[in-house]
Amino acid sequence: MTPNRRQFLTAASTFAITSALVPRVSLSHEKKPTRVVLLGTRGGPSVEAAERNNASTLILINDVPYVVDCGYGVSKQLRKAGITLNRVRYIFITHNHSDHNLDFGPLLYNAWITGQAIQIDAYGPPGLIDMSRSFFEYEKFDIDVRMKDEGRADPRKLVFTHEIEKPGPVLTNDDVKITACLVRHPPIVHAYAYRFDANDRSVVISGDTAYAPALAEFAKGADVLVHEVMYLPAVEALVKRLPDATRLRDHLLASHTLPEDVGKIAAAAGVKTLVLSHFVPGDDKTITDEQWSAGVRKHFKGQVVVGRDLLEI
Ligand SMILES: [Zn+2]
Ligand SMILES: [Zn+2]
Repeated sequence: MTPNRRQFLTAASTFAITSALVPRVSLSHEKKPTRVVLLGTRGGPSVEAAERNNASTLILINDVPYVVDCGYGVSKQLRKAGITLNRVRYIFITHNHSDHNLDFGPLLYNAWITGQAIQIDAYGPPGLIDMSRSFFEYEKFDIDVRMKDEGRADPRKLVFTHEIEKPGPVLTNDDVKITACLVRHPPIVHAYAYRFDANDRSVVISGDTAYAPALAEFAKGADVLVHEVMYLPAVEALVKRLPDATRLRDHLLASHTLPEDVGKIAAAAGVKTLVLSHFVPGDDKTITDEQWSAGVRKHFKGQVVVGRDLLEI
């Protein structure tokens, strides 16, 4: 993790002393229940007129928003889920495919421009610090103008970006312990699943992965596993429609999980609820919920939820 935890704590506490813009703390001592909201359930980077937005999941822990992945449209989906953008406190990126990070920078910006900005800590694979820097460079003109003209705080000082070099503990606070697990998403090496162990609930987000037995171990006993899924007959049909799509087919098969295998992972992990998300292909409306889940149910006897945008679990 860069900077390391000690540096982060130092940076964070310095920030709190020098600025009034500290994260909002609930006055009530009663913890709010953990909520999971699917913001975008579509797999893949294309932006088409479809009912599924690009990948993102919101976890509200004690009413604090943790956003996992920032596919295109994440800011608007957060608004639709009732989250004012300057409440976003933590962002996690599973891997650096654009359907998971295209709106990382824009979410940082939109959170900053909404009312009084707060600190954001962002976690993800190596490359995230560069992405954050490059984005602020890209919007430098606007940011500099608004800081001077509107008296806004410097967003570059409100964002702390942490790169996760290897799996293991990522963040622990009073409400939650968050850990990362490497999954299988070739050719990308730093592809992570995240586990959120809150006081009342454990939630695992698979990220993009091929069948990964290590993920079953990682998700052991979780209340909710949000897992990606790929429906092979629709992929075969898609590939037939595209010229020279052999490589696309090979890529998809090597890096995503078929329903039967998702069921095996959920069963081995012994999770209570399995939520299917990041549907591949994500724009084929002819695939029914039954088709997405039939293979899963062959192996997993717990609750299966076929995800859709803005569904709360
Ligand atoms: Zn993806
Ligand atoms: Zn991916």
